[in-house]
Amino acid sequence: MSAQLTESLARIVGPDHVLLDAQLIEPYVVDWTRRWQGSAIAVVRPGTTDEVAGVVRACLDAGVAMQVQGGNTGLVGGSIPSADGSTVVISTRRLQRMDPVDETAGQVTVGSGVTLGELQRHARAAGWAYGVDLAARDSATIGGTVATNAGGIRVIAYGMTRAQVTGIEAVLPNGEIVEHLAGLAKDNTGYDLAGLLTGAEGTLGIITAVRLRLHRPTSDTSIAFIGVDDYTDAMRLLHGAVAPGHRLLAAEVVDDTGIDLAMAISDLVWPWPNRHRLGLLLEVADGGTGEGFDAAALDSLDVVIGIDRGEQERLWAYRELQSEAFTTHAAGTSGGVAHKMDISVPLAHLADCAEQLRIRMLEYPAVVAFGVFGHLGDGNIHVEISGPAPDDDEVDRRVLSVVSAYGGAVSAEHGIGRAKTAWLSASRSDSEINAMQAIKRAWDPAGLLNPGVLFTGQ
Ligand SMILES: Cc1cc2nc3c(=O)[nH]c(=O)nc-3n(C[C@H](O)[C@H](O)[C@H](O)COP(=O)(O)OP(=O)(O)OC[C@H]3O[C@@H](n4cnc5c(N)ncnc54)[C@H](O)[C@@H]3O)c2cc1C
Repeated sequence: MSAQLTESLARIVGPDHVLLDAQLIEPYVVDWTRRWQGSAIAVVRPGTTDEVAGVVRACLDAGVAMQVQGGNTGLVGGSIPSADGSTVVISTRRLQRMDPVDETAGQVTVGSGVTLGELQRHARAAGWAYGVDLAARDSATIGGTVATNAGGIRVIAYGMTRAQVTGIEAVLPNGEIVEHLAGLAKDNTGYDLAGLLTGAEGTLGIITAVRLRLHRPTSDTSIAFIGVDDYTDAMRLLHGAVAPGHRLLAAEVVDDTGIDLAMAISDLVWPWPNRHRLGLLLEVADGGTGEGFDAAALDSLDVVIGIDRGEQERLWAYRELQSEAFTTHAAGTSGGVAHKMDISVPLAHLADCAEQLRIRMLEYPAVVAFGVFGHLGDGNIHVEISGPAPDDDEVDRRVLSVVSAYGGAVSAEHGIGRAKTAWLSASRSDSEINAMQAIKRAWDPAGLLNPGVLFTGQ
Protein backbone atom coordinates (compact mmCIF):
# COMPACT_ATOMS: atom_id res chain seq x y z
CA MET A 1 0.00 0.00 0.00
CA SER A 2 1.30 3.44 -0.82
CA ALA A 3 2.62 5.48 2.10
CA GLN A 4 0.20 8.21 1.06
CA LEU A 5 -2.86 5.94 1.48
CA THR A 6 -1.55 4.62 4.83
CA GLU A 7 -1.16 8.18 6.02
CA SER A 8 -4.64 9.18 4.83
CA LEU A 9 -6.25 6.18 6.54
CA ALA A 10 -4.35 6.81 9.78
CA ARG A 11 -5.44 10.46 9.70
CA ILE A 12 -9.08 9.43 9.25
CA VAL A 13 -9.43 6.63 11.83
CA GLY A 14 -6.35 7.13 14.02
CA PRO A 15 -3.11 5.11 13.66
CA ASP A 16 -4.27 2.47 16.19
CA HIS A 17 -7.08 1.49 13.86
CA VAL A 18 -5.01 0.85 10.75
CA LEU A 19 -3.58 -2.66 11.08
CA LEU A 20 -0.61 -3.42 8.84
CA ASP A 21 1.12 -6.20 10.75
CA ALA A 22 0.49 -9.68 9.26
CA GLN A 23 -0.24 -11.19 12.67
CA LEU A 24 -2.86 -8.56 13.48
CA ILE A 25 -4.41 -8.90 10.02
CA GLU A 26 -4.65 -12.70 10.16
CA PRO A 27 -8.05 -13.00 11.97
CA TYR A 28 -9.60 -10.77 9.29
CA VAL A 29 -8.43 -12.81 6.30
CA VAL A 30 -9.52 -16.28 7.42
CA ASP A 31 -13.19 -17.03 7.93
CA TRP A 32 -14.99 -18.97 10.65
CA THR A 33 -14.92 -22.21 8.62
CA ARG A 34 -11.20 -21.75 7.76
CA ARG A 35 -12.13 -22.86 4.23
CA TRP A 36 -11.95 -19.27 2.94
CA GLN A 37 -8.62 -17.52 3.26
CA GLY A 38 -7.47 -14.31 1.61
CA SER A 39 -4.87 -11.62 2.01
CA ALA A 40 -5.04 -7.87 2.72
CA ILE A 41 -2.71 -4.92 2.57
CA ALA A 42 -4.34 -3.43 5.67
CA VAL A 43 -7.34 -3.65 7.97
CA VAL A 44 -9.07 -0.36 8.79
CA ARG A 45 -11.46 0.00 11.71
CA PRO A 46 -13.51 3.19 11.42
CA GLY A 47 -15.50 4.22 14.50
CA THR A 48 -18.07 6.59 12.94
CA THR A 49 -20.07 6.89 9.74
CA ASP A 50 -18.00 9.90 8.69
CA GLU A 51 -14.84 7.87 9.17
CA VAL A 52 -16.28 5.09 6.97
CA ALA A 53 -17.03 7.67 4.28
CA GLY A 54 -13.49 9.08 4.58
CA VAL A 55 -11.95 5.61 4.27
CA VAL A 56 -14.05 4.84 1.18
CA ARG A 57 -13.05 8.11 -0.49
CA ALA A 58 -9.37 7.53 0.31
CA CYS A 59 -9.45 4.01 -1.17
CA LEU A 60 -11.39 5.29 -4.18
CA ASP A 61 -8.82 8.02 -4.83
CA ALA A 62 -6.01 5.46 -4.56
CA GLY A 63 -7.89 2.95 -6.77
CA VAL A 64 -7.64 0.31 -4.03
CA ALA A 65 -10.26 -2.44 -3.60
CA MET A 66 -12.24 -2.63 -0.34
CA GLN A 67 -13.60 -5.66 1.50
CA VAL A 68 -16.37 -5.00 4.03
CA GLN A 69 -16.38 -7.21 7.10
CA GLY A 70 -18.61 -7.47 10.16
CA GLY A 71 -18.33 -10.43 12.54
CA ASN A 72 -16.71 -12.66 9.88
CA THR A 73 -19.18 -15.49 10.60
CA GLY A 74 -20.57 -15.68 7.05
CA LEU A 75 -20.10 -19.18 5.72
CA VAL A 76 -19.61 -18.44 2.00
CA GLY A 77 -16.33 -16.51 1.89
CA GLY A 78 -18.08 -13.15 1.32
CA SER A 79 -16.33 -11.46 4.25
CA ILE A 80 -12.83 -12.47 3.18
CA PRO A 81 -10.67 -10.45 0.76
CA SER A 82 -9.33 -12.05 -2.41
CA ALA A 83 -5.99 -13.86 -2.20
CA ASP A 84 -4.03 -11.40 -4.35
CA GLY A 85 -3.27 -9.04 -1.45
CA SER A 86 -4.61 -5.94 -3.21
CA THR A 87 -7.45 -5.15 -0.81
CA VAL A 88 -8.10 -3.04 2.29
CA VAL A 89 -10.46 -4.75 4.75
CA ILE A 90 -12.93 -2.31 6.32
CA SER A 91 -14.11 -3.74 9.62
CA THR A 92 -17.40 -2.31 10.92
CA ARG A 93 -17.11 -3.69 14.44
CA ARG A 94 -16.43 -0.29 16.05
CA LEU A 95 -19.74 1.12 14.78
CA GLN A 96 -21.37 0.61 18.16
CA ARG A 97 -24.26 3.12 18.18
CA MET A 98 -27.11 1.83 20.38
CA ASP A 99 -30.13 4.15 20.63
CA PRO A 100 -32.80 3.64 23.30
CA VAL A 101 -35.78 1.56 22.14
CA ASP A 102 -38.47 3.78 20.60
CA GLU A 103 -41.39 2.52 22.70
CA THR A 104 -44.00 4.26 20.58
CA ALA A 105 -42.88 2.81 17.27
CA GLY A 106 -41.56 -0.49 18.64
CA GLN A 107 -38.28 0.11 16.79
CA VAL A 108 -34.63 0.71 17.57
CA THR A 109 -31.66 2.19 15.69
CA VAL A 110 -28.28 0.52 16.15
CA GLY A 111 -24.83 0.74 14.62
CA SER A 112 -23.88 -1.97 12.16
CA GLY A 113 -21.06 -3.28 14.40
CA VAL A 114 -23.39 -4.19 17.27
CA THR A 115 -23.69 -7.97 17.55
CA LEU A 116 -27.00 -9.75 17.21
CA GLY A 117 -26.70 -10.93 20.83
CA GLU A 118 -26.08 -7.37 22.09
CA LEU A 119 -29.16 -6.13 20.23
CA GLN A 120 -31.27 -9.02 21.60
CA ARG A 121 -30.22 -8.16 25.17
CA HIS A 122 -30.81 -4.43 24.60
CA ALA A 123 -34.34 -5.11 23.28
CA ARG A 124 -35.11 -7.59 26.09
CA ALA A 125 -34.05 -5.13 28.77
CA ALA A 126 -36.62 -2.69 27.38
CA GLY A 127 -39.38 -5.34 27.30
CA TRP A 128 -39.15 -6.09 23.57
CA ALA A 129 -37.78 -8.88 21.41
CA TYR A 130 -35.80 -8.84 18.16
CA GLY A 131 -37.18 -11.36 15.65
CA VAL A 132 -33.89 -12.74 14.26
CA ASP A 133 -31.81 -15.33 16.07
CA LEU A 134 -29.04 -17.69 14.99
CA ALA A 135 -26.27 -19.69 16.60
CA ALA A 136 -23.53 -17.15 15.74
CA ARG A 137 -25.44 -14.45 17.69
CA ASP A 138 -22.47 -13.39 19.83
CA SER A 139 -20.19 -12.65 16.85
CA ALA A 140 -22.44 -11.87 13.86
CA THR A 141 -23.05 -8.12 13.53
CA ILE A 142 -26.29 -6.37 12.69
CA GLY A 143 -24.65 -4.97 9.53
CA GLY A 144 -23.65 -8.49 8.47
CA THR A 145 -27.09 -9.91 9.16
CA VAL A 146 -28.70 -7.14 7.10
CA ALA A 147 -26.13 -7.42 4.29
CA THR A 148 -26.81 -11.16 4.06
CA ASN A 149 -30.56 -10.91 4.84
CA ALA A 150 -29.90 -13.54 7.50
CA GLY A 151 -32.57 -16.10 8.33
CA GLY A 152 -32.06 -18.26 11.40
CA ILE A 153 -34.31 -20.12 13.79
CA ARG A 154 -37.23 -17.66 14.09
CA VAL A 155 -38.07 -17.12 10.41
CA ILE A 156 -41.18 -19.27 10.74
CA ALA A 157 -42.51 -16.75 13.29
CA TYR A 158 -41.07 -13.37 12.25
CA GLY A 159 -39.64 -13.68 8.71
CA MET A 160 -36.09 -13.02 7.49
CA THR A 161 -33.97 -9.98 8.46
CA ARG A 162 -35.47 -8.02 5.54
CA ALA A 163 -38.82 -8.10 7.34
CA GLN A 164 -37.27 -6.36 10.37
CA VAL A 165 -35.49 -3.49 8.53
CA THR A 166 -37.39 -0.18 8.54
CA GLY A 167 -34.52 2.19 7.74
CA ILE A 168 -30.84 2.29 6.91
CA GLU A 169 -27.74 4.45 6.90
CA ALA A 170 -24.92 3.51 4.56
CA VAL A 171 -21.84 4.77 2.77
CA LEU A 172 -22.09 4.19 -0.97
CA PRO A 173 -19.09 3.13 -3.09
CA ASN A 174 -18.57 6.79 -4.13
CA GLY A 175 -18.14 7.79 -0.48
CA GLU A 176 -21.55 9.48 -0.16
CA ILE A 177 -23.61 8.87 2.97
CA VAL A 178 -27.29 7.95 2.54
CA GLU A 179 -29.39 8.15 5.69
CA HIS A 180 -33.05 7.15 5.92
CA LEU A 181 -33.65 6.08 9.52
CA ALA A 182 -37.10 7.53 10.32
CA GLY A 183 -38.65 4.05 10.19
CA LEU A 184 -41.97 5.34 8.91
CA ALA A 185 -44.68 2.69 8.62
CA LYS A 186 -45.77 4.32 5.37
CA ASP A 187 -43.23 5.92 3.08
CA ASN A 188 -43.79 5.69 -0.66
CA THR A 189 -41.17 8.21 -1.68
CA GLY A 190 -39.11 6.52 -4.33
CA TYR A 191 -36.76 3.58 -4.41
CA ASP A 192 -36.44 1.44 -1.30
CA LEU A 193 -32.69 1.84 -0.74
CA ALA A 194 -32.81 -0.12 2.53
CA GLY A 195 -34.43 -2.98 0.63
CA LEU A 196 -31.72 -2.82 -2.04
CA LEU A 197 -28.83 -2.83 0.44
CA THR A 198 -30.41 -5.68 2.42
CA GLY A 199 -29.07 -8.93 1.02
CA ALA A 200 -26.60 -7.12 -1.31
CA GLU A 201 -23.67 -8.73 0.58
CA GLY A 202 -21.78 -5.45 0.81
CA THR A 203 -21.52 -5.03 -2.96
CA LEU A 204 -23.55 -1.79 -3.08
CA GLY A 205 -22.53 0.03 0.08
CA ILE A 206 -21.27 -0.20 3.63
CA ILE A 207 -24.17 -0.28 6.08
CA THR A 208 -23.32 1.90 9.09
CA ALA A 209 -26.61 1.91 11.04
CA VAL A 210 -29.98 0.20 10.81
CA ARG A 211 -33.46 0.95 12.10
CA LEU A 212 -35.14 -2.29 13.13
CA ARG A 213 -38.65 -3.43 13.95
CA LEU A 214 -39.07 -5.09 17.36
CA HIS A 215 -41.77 -7.43 18.63
CA ARG A 216 -43.56 -7.90 21.90
CA PRO A 217 -42.11 -11.03 23.55
CA THR A 218 -44.28 -14.14 23.44
CA SER A 219 -45.31 -16.06 26.53
CA ASP A 220 -42.96 -18.72 27.91
CA THR A 221 -42.37 -21.63 25.56
CA SER A 222 -42.23 -25.43 25.48
CA ILE A 223 -40.00 -27.57 23.30
CA ALA A 224 -40.63 -31.04 21.89
CA PHE A 225 -37.64 -32.92 20.49
CA ILE A 226 -39.11 -35.80 18.49
CA GLY A 227 -37.32 -38.78 16.93
CA VAL A 228 -38.63 -39.40 13.39
CA ASP A 229 -37.47 -41.51 10.48
CA ASP A 230 -37.70 -39.20 7.48
CA TYR A 231 -38.62 -35.76 6.25
CA THR A 232 -42.13 -36.91 5.35
CA ASP A 233 -42.83 -37.72 9.02
CA ALA A 234 -41.21 -34.47 10.09
CA MET A 235 -43.39 -32.46 7.68
CA ARG A 236 -46.52 -34.24 8.94
CA LEU A 237 -45.66 -33.29 12.52
CA LEU A 238 -44.82 -29.71 11.55
CA HIS A 239 -48.47 -29.28 10.68
CA GLY A 240 -49.97 -31.76 13.12
CA ALA A 241 -48.04 -31.61 16.41
CA VAL A 242 -48.95 -28.08 17.47
CA ALA A 243 -52.20 -27.75 19.39
CA PRO A 244 -54.61 -25.18 17.91
CA GLY A 245 -54.25 -21.67 19.30
CA HIS A 246 -50.52 -21.87 20.04
CA ARG A 247 -47.84 -20.08 18.07
CA LEU A 248 -45.02 -22.10 16.52
CA LEU A 249 -41.72 -20.26 17.07
CA ALA A 250 -39.19 -22.73 15.67
CA ALA A 251 -39.17 -25.96 13.65
CA GLU A 252 -35.69 -27.40 13.18
CA VAL A 253 -34.36 -30.78 12.08
CA VAL A 254 -31.06 -32.49 12.84
CA ASP A 255 -30.04 -35.86 11.43
CA ASP A 256 -28.52 -38.82 13.27
CA THR A 257 -24.98 -38.18 11.97
CA GLY A 258 -25.17 -34.62 13.26
CA ILE A 259 -26.48 -35.77 16.63
CA ASP A 260 -23.62 -38.28 16.93
CA LEU A 261 -21.06 -35.57 16.06
CA ALA A 262 -22.62 -33.09 18.51
CA MET A 263 -22.38 -35.78 21.21
CA ALA A 264 -18.69 -36.22 20.36
CA ILE A 265 -17.89 -32.57 21.21
CA SER A 266 -20.19 -32.16 24.24
CA ASP A 267 -21.75 -34.03 27.13
CA LEU A 268 -24.99 -34.57 25.20
CA VAL A 269 -26.30 -38.15 25.06
CA TRP A 270 -28.54 -39.87 22.53
CA PRO A 271 -31.90 -38.26 23.30
CA TRP A 272 -34.37 -41.12 22.86
CA PRO A 273 -34.60 -44.83 23.81
CA ASN A 274 -34.52 -45.82 20.10
CA ARG A 275 -32.35 -44.87 17.12
CA HIS A 276 -33.97 -42.44 14.59
CA ARG A 277 -32.71 -40.93 11.33
CA LEU A 278 -33.92 -37.42 12.21
CA GLY A 279 -34.69 -35.29 15.24
CA LEU A 280 -37.43 -32.66 14.93
CA LEU A 281 -37.31 -29.77 17.39
CA LEU A 282 -40.51 -27.76 17.76
CA GLU A 283 -40.83 -24.74 20.05
CA VAL A 284 -44.25 -23.26 20.81
CA ALA A 285 -45.39 -20.26 22.86
CA ASP A 286 -47.79 -21.93 25.28
CA GLY A 287 -46.91 -20.32 28.60
CA GLY A 288 -44.31 -23.03 29.26
CA THR A 289 -46.96 -25.63 30.10
CA GLY A 290 -46.34 -28.23 27.39
CA GLU A 291 -49.98 -27.82 26.36
CA GLY A 292 -48.96 -26.33 23.05
CA PHE A 293 -48.41 -29.82 21.65
CA ASP A 294 -51.18 -32.11 20.45
CA ALA A 295 -50.84 -35.11 22.78
CA ALA A 296 -52.56 -37.45 20.30
CA ALA A 297 -50.14 -36.52 17.49
CA LEU A 298 -47.12 -37.29 19.69
CA ASP A 299 -48.57 -40.42 21.27
CA SER A 300 -46.37 -43.49 20.69
CA LEU A 301 -43.46 -41.37 19.35
CA ASP A 302 -40.07 -40.94 21.03
CA VAL A 303 -40.35 -37.40 22.42
CA VAL A 304 -38.44 -35.34 24.97
CA ILE A 305 -40.35 -32.30 26.24
CA GLY A 306 -38.38 -29.29 27.51
CA ILE A 307 -40.16 -26.87 29.83
CA ASP A 308 -37.52 -25.39 32.11
CA ARG A 309 -34.76 -23.21 30.69
CA GLY A 310 -31.90 -25.61 31.43
CA GLU A 311 -33.61 -28.47 29.62
CA GLN A 312 -34.54 -26.20 26.70
CA GLU A 313 -30.93 -25.06 26.32
CA ARG A 314 -29.81 -28.69 26.34
CA LEU A 315 -32.32 -29.61 23.60
CA TRP A 316 -31.33 -26.58 21.49
CA ALA A 317 -27.68 -27.64 21.83
CA TYR A 318 -28.31 -30.69 19.58
CA ARG A 319 -29.19 -28.21 16.83
CA GLU A 320 -26.89 -25.30 17.63
CA LEU A 321 -23.73 -27.42 17.85
CA GLN A 322 -24.19 -28.75 14.30
CA SER A 323 -21.92 -26.38 12.39
CA GLU A 324 -19.16 -26.61 15.00
CA ALA A 325 -19.54 -30.41 15.24
CA PHE A 326 -18.95 -30.90 11.50
CA THR A 327 -16.10 -28.35 11.50
CA THR A 328 -14.42 -30.30 14.31
CA HIS A 329 -15.01 -33.63 12.62
CA ALA A 330 -13.68 -32.40 9.27
CA ALA A 331 -10.52 -31.10 10.96
CA GLY A 332 -9.70 -34.73 11.79
CA THR A 333 -10.07 -35.90 8.16
CA SER A 334 -7.63 -35.47 5.30
CA GLY A 335 -9.90 -32.72 3.90
CA GLY A 336 -9.30 -30.60 7.00
CA VAL A 337 -12.33 -28.33 6.56
CA ALA A 338 -16.06 -28.96 6.28
CA HIS A 339 -17.94 -28.15 3.08
CA LYS A 340 -21.01 -26.22 4.22
CA MET A 341 -23.95 -25.51 1.99
CA ASP A 342 -27.26 -23.86 2.63
CA ILE A 343 -30.03 -24.65 0.21
CA SER A 344 -33.78 -24.40 0.03
CA VAL A 345 -36.34 -26.30 -2.01
CA PRO A 346 -40.13 -26.12 -2.27
CA LEU A 347 -41.56 -27.88 0.81
CA ALA A 348 -43.31 -30.43 -1.43
CA HIS A 349 -39.87 -31.67 -2.66
CA LEU A 350 -37.97 -31.48 0.61
CA ALA A 351 -38.21 -35.19 1.51
CA ASP A 352 -37.19 -36.36 -1.98
CA CYS A 353 -34.38 -33.82 -2.23
CA ALA A 354 -32.95 -34.81 1.16
CA GLU A 355 -32.97 -38.48 0.16
CA GLN A 356 -31.32 -37.75 -3.23
CA LEU A 357 -28.62 -35.72 -1.48
CA ARG A 358 -27.93 -38.60 0.89
CA ILE A 359 -27.61 -41.08 -1.99
CA ARG A 360 -25.34 -38.77 -4.04
CA MET A 361 -23.07 -38.08 -1.08
CA LEU A 362 -22.77 -41.67 0.10
CA GLU A 363 -21.55 -42.68 -3.38
CA TYR A 364 -18.89 -39.91 -3.46
CA PRO A 365 -15.63 -41.59 -2.41
CA ALA A 366 -14.02 -38.66 -0.56
CA VAL A 367 -17.01 -38.15 1.75
CA VAL A 368 -16.32 -39.33 5.32
CA ALA A 369 -19.39 -37.84 6.98
CA PHE A 370 -22.47 -36.22 5.51
CA GLY A 371 -25.32 -34.61 7.42
CA VAL A 372 -28.26 -32.29 7.04
CA PHE A 373 -29.90 -29.99 9.54
CA GLY A 374 -31.85 -26.79 9.47
CA HIS A 375 -35.01 -24.83 9.31
CA LEU A 376 -37.75 -27.28 8.35
CA GLY A 377 -40.63 -24.83 8.05
CA ASP A 378 -38.66 -22.73 5.54
CA GLY A 379 -37.71 -25.67 3.27
CA ASN A 380 -34.11 -24.83 4.21
CA ILE A 381 -31.48 -27.53 4.64
CA HIS A 382 -27.92 -26.93 5.76
CA VAL A 383 -25.68 -29.56 4.22
CA GLU A 384 -22.41 -30.47 5.95
CA ILE A 385 -19.73 -32.68 4.45
CA SER A 386 -16.41 -33.72 5.88
CA GLY A 387 -13.68 -35.57 4.01
CA PRO A 388 -13.27 -33.80 0.64
CA ALA A 389 -10.36 -31.37 0.21
CA PRO A 390 -11.18 -27.63 0.52
CA ASP A 391 -10.85 -27.15 -3.26
CA ASP A 392 -12.92 -30.23 -4.14
CA ASP A 393 -15.65 -28.26 -5.93
CA GLU A 394 -17.13 -31.39 -7.47
CA VAL A 395 -18.75 -32.35 -4.16
CA ASP A 396 -20.40 -28.90 -3.94
CA ARG A 397 -21.45 -29.19 -7.58
CA ARG A 398 -23.21 -32.48 -6.89
CA VAL A 399 -25.19 -31.01 -4.02
CA LEU A 400 -26.16 -27.87 -5.91
CA SER A 401 -27.17 -29.74 -9.04
CA VAL A 402 -29.61 -31.86 -6.99
CA VAL A 403 -31.04 -28.63 -5.58
CA SER A 404 -31.41 -27.08 -9.04
CA ALA A 405 -33.17 -30.20 -10.27
CA TYR A 406 -35.82 -29.70 -7.58
CA GLY A 407 -36.28 -26.00 -8.43
CA GLY A 408 -34.54 -24.85 -5.25
CA ALA A 409 -32.22 -21.97 -4.34
CA VAL A 410 -28.45 -22.59 -4.13
CA SER A 411 -28.38 -20.25 -1.16
CA ALA A 412 -31.29 -20.02 1.25
CA GLU A 413 -29.82 -17.59 3.76
CA HIS A 414 -26.01 -17.44 3.82
CA GLY A 415 -25.77 -15.67 0.46
CA ILE A 416 -23.62 -16.23 -2.62
CA GLY A 417 -20.37 -14.80 -1.23
CA ARG A 418 -17.30 -16.00 -3.12
CA ALA A 419 -18.31 -19.65 -2.76
CA LYS A 420 -21.27 -19.74 -5.10
CA THR A 421 -20.70 -17.04 -7.72
CA ALA A 422 -20.56 -19.68 -10.45
CA TRP A 423 -23.93 -20.98 -9.25
CA LEU A 424 -25.90 -17.74 -9.19
CA SER A 425 -27.28 -18.53 -12.64
CA ALA A 426 -28.71 -21.82 -11.33
CA SER A 427 -31.19 -19.85 -9.24
CA ARG A 428 -31.57 -16.52 -11.12
CA SER A 429 -32.26 -15.86 -14.83
CA ASP A 430 -29.85 -14.04 -17.18
CA SER A 431 -32.10 -11.00 -17.24
CA GLU A 432 -32.25 -10.87 -13.44
CA ILE A 433 -28.44 -11.09 -13.22
CA ASN A 434 -28.09 -8.41 -15.93
CA ALA A 435 -30.36 -6.10 -13.92
CA MET A 436 -28.36 -6.75 -10.74
CA GLN A 437 -25.06 -6.10 -12.52
CA ALA A 438 -26.40 -2.87 -14.04
CA ILE A 439 -27.16 -1.60 -10.52
CA LYS A 440 -23.71 -2.67 -9.34
CA ARG A 441 -22.03 -0.85 -12.25
CA ALA A 442 -24.09 2.30 -11.68
CA TRP A 443 -23.23 2.47 -7.99
CA ASP A 444 -19.68 1.15 -8.14
CA PRO A 445 -18.35 1.84 -11.65
CA ALA A 446 -14.76 1.13 -10.61
CA GLY A 447 -15.83 -2.21 -9.07
CA LEU A 448 -13.84 -1.52 -5.89
CA LEU A 449 -16.35 -2.58 -3.22
CA ASN A 450 -16.32 -6.32 -2.41
CA PRO A 451 -15.00 -7.37 -5.85
CA GLY A 452 -15.51 -11.08 -6.49
CA VAL A 453 -18.45 -11.29 -4.07
CA LEU A 454 -21.85 -12.19 -5.55
CA PHE A 455 -20.71 -11.89 -9.19
CA THR A 456 -17.81 -13.70 -10.83
CA GLY A 457 -14.98 -11.44 -11.92
CA GLN A 458 -16.46 -8.09 -10.78
C1 LIG B 1 -22.42 -21.30 13.95
C2 LIG B 1 -23.05 -20.47 12.87
C3 LIG B 1 -24.44 -20.53 12.67
C4 LIG B 1 -25.03 -19.75 11.68
N1 LIG B 1 -26.38 -19.84 11.52
C5 LIG B 1 -26.99 -19.08 10.58
C6 LIG B 1 -28.40 -19.14 10.41
O1 LIG B 1 -29.12 -19.88 11.07
N2 LIG B 1 -28.95 -18.33 9.46
C7 LIG B 1 -28.20 -17.48 8.69
O2 LIG B 1 -28.75 -16.77 7.86
N3 LIG B 1 -26.85 -17.44 8.82
C8 LIG B 1 -26.24 -18.19 9.73
N4 LIG B 1 -24.87 -18.15 9.88
C9 LIG B 1 -24.08 -17.32 8.96
C10 LIG B 1 -23.73 -15.91 9.48
O3 LIG B 1 -23.77 -15.83 10.87
C11 LIG B 1 -24.66 -14.87 8.87
O4 LIG B 1 -24.49 -14.83 7.48
C12 LIG B 1 -24.45 -13.46 9.42
O5 LIG B 1 -25.47 -12.65 8.91
C13 LIG B 1 -23.10 -12.85 9.06
O6 LIG B 1 -22.87 -11.70 9.86
P1 LIG B 1 -21.39 -11.16 10.06
O7 LIG B 1 -21.46 -9.88 10.82
O8 LIG B 1 -20.53 -12.21 10.63
O9 LIG B 1 -21.00 -10.83 8.56
P2 LIG B 1 -19.63 -11.16 7.81
O10 LIG B 1 -19.39 -12.62 7.82
O11 LIG B 1 -18.55 -10.30 8.31
O12 LIG B 1 -20.01 -10.70 6.32
C14 LIG B 1 -20.98 -11.37 5.57
C15 LIG B 1 -21.25 -10.55 4.29
O13 LIG B 1 -21.87 -9.31 4.63
C16 LIG B 1 -21.04 -8.22 4.22
N5 LIG B 1 -21.10 -7.23 5.30
C17 LIG B 1 -20.82 -7.42 6.62
N6 LIG B 1 -21.07 -6.30 7.30
C18 LIG B 1 -21.50 -5.37 6.39
C19 LIG B 1 -21.89 -4.02 6.47
N7 LIG B 1 -21.91 -3.33 7.63
N8 LIG B 1 -22.29 -3.39 5.35
C20 LIG B 1 -22.30 -4.02 4.16
N9 LIG B 1 -21.91 -5.30 4.01
C21 LIG B 1 -21.52 -5.97 5.11
C22 LIG B 1 -19.66 -8.80 4.01
O14 LIG B 1 -18.92 -8.06 3.06
C23 LIG B 1 -20.00 -10.20 3.52
O15 LIG B 1 -20.31 -10.17 2.14
C24 LIG B 1 -24.24 -18.92 10.85
C25 LIG B 1 -22.85 -18.86 11.04
C26 LIG B 1 -22.26 -19.62 12.04
C27 LIG B 1 -20.78 -19.52 12.21
